[in-house]
Amino acid sequence: MILLNSSEAISRFVDSHILLTHYHEVGLKGRNRAKFERQLKQNIQAALAGLEGISVSRISGRLLIEVEPHLTDDINSIAATVASLPGVVRVSQGVSVARDLDSINSAALAILEQSEPFSSFKVAARRANTDYPLDSMQLNQRVGAYLSHNLPLKTVRMADPDVKLHVEIIEGRAFVYAHTIKGIGGLPVGSSGAVVCLLSAGLDSPIAAWRMMRRGATVLGLHFSGRPQTSADSEHLVKQIAEVLKPIAGLTGLFVVPFGEYQRMIAAAVPASLRIIFYRRLMFAVANRLAAEQGARALVTGESLGQVASQTLENIQVIDAVAKFPVLRPLIGSDKQEIISEALQLGTYEISIQNHEDCCTLFMPRSPETRARLSIVDPIWNQLPIDDWLDVIMADIEQLDLP
Ligand code: ATP
Ligand code: MG
Repeated sequence: MILLNSSEAISRFVDSHILLTHYHEVGLKGRNRAKFERQLKQNIQAALAGLEGISVSRISGRLLIEVEPHLTDDINSIAATVASLPGVVRVSQGVSVARDLDSINSAALAILEQSEPFSSFKVAARRANTDYPLDSMQLNQRVGAYLSHNLPLKTVRMADPDVKLHVEIIEGRAFVYAHTIKGIGGLPVGSSGAVVCLLSAGLDSPIAAWRMMRRGATVLGLHFSGRPQTSADSEHLVKQIAEVLKPIAGLTGLFVVPFGEYQRMIAAAVPASLRIIFYRRLMFAVANRLAAEQGARALVTGESLGQVASQTLENIQVIDAVAKFPVLRPLIGSDKQEIISEALQLGTYEISIQNHEDCCTLFMPRSPETRARLSIVDPIWNQLPIDDWLDVIMADIEQLDLP
C-alpha cells in the first residue's frame, strides 16, 4: 500500500492528493452519460459526507476527488469506500501537480520511490488536451528517461511491469499515480429506478438486492416475519443486513409484514403440499401493492433455479401468475457456492447463517409440491379473501428506520 502522505518530498510540490475515479459502463451510455456522472458524483459525495475537506468534480471522463491535506492519512480508506460504490470500475490514488515537465518528473520519481519494492516499471501517459506541447508518446519517453536516470537499478519493461506510472494531462493540470484499486463496477445507485425486493434473512435475497443495487436500482426491502407465531429474530437479522448495505446507499426503505397469522390461515385452508406456493403468492401480492404505492417497477427475489422445492420452473410459473410487475431473479442461474462467496465478500454471510425462526419455518409441509399447476392452485386461491387480507396487511405494514 502506498502512503503518499507520509512523504514530505511529495508534499512540497503537489497541488493536492487526489483520487481519480474511473467508470466504464457509465462512460458508454451515450446521451445519458452526463446524468450517470452526476448520479455517481452525488453518491460519492453522500458516501463521504462525514468528512470535511473533500471535493468531487467531473473531469474528462473521470471523477476527480481532491482530498485536503488533513485527510491524507485517511486516503486509503476513502479510496476503499469509493471503490465499493456501484458504477466505480477503478480508483487511482495519486497527486495533482502543475503540468510542466519538472513538476511531473518530481512527482513521478517520488511516487516510484514509495512504490518499493519493485524492479520494473513503465510510464503510461495520456493527454486529454491537445494544447499540451508533448504528445503521449513524447511524455512517456521524457518522463521515462528522467526516471531511468534517477533510478538506475530499475528496468523499464513494457509488458507486465511491476509498477505502471500514469501521467494524465487533463485541463490545466497533471495527475500522477501508480496505485489503483478495483471497484465493483456496474451503474450508480439511483440511475435505474426502484424495485421491491423480497428480503429474508437468508443467504440469497440480500445478494439479489445487492446485485440490483450494482445495476443502479434503489431497493425497497420487504420482509415477512413469522410474528406473532415466531419471535422477531429474523427482523433483527434483516436490520443487520441493512447495516451492511448502508454504505452503498441503495436500500431506500425497509418494510416488515407480521405474516404468521396469514400463514396459519393458509395452512388451515389449502392442501399441505401447496402451502409454500400460497405463502409465496401472498408475499407477491403484498409486494404488488407496495410497489404500486411506492412507484417501484419490478419485484426481486433471491431464487435460484431448482435450489429448493418452491424454485422449480413449474412452481415459479404458478407463483408469478399473481405478480403485476416483472419479477427479477438475479440469482436464478447462480450456484450456491457463488452466492456464498459473494455473501462473504459483501459481509452478509455471518448474519445469514445465524439460526433464526422466520416465517419459512412455520407450518412447513412434509413434502411440498414441486410441480404446482395453475388449474389446481387458482380455484383455491380465488376462494380466499385475498383482497381483504391485503387491505389489512397494508394497513399493518411496519416501516423500519434505516440505519
Ligand atoms: P433466501 O436465502 O433469500 O431466504 P432461500 O434459498 O431460503 O432464499 P426460499 O426460502 O425458498 O429460498 O425463498 C425464496 C425467495 O423468496 C427468497 O430469496 C426471498 O426473495 C423470498 N422470501 C423467502 N422468505 C422470505 C421472507 N421471510 N421475507 C421476504 N422474502 C422472503
Ligand atoms: Mg429463505
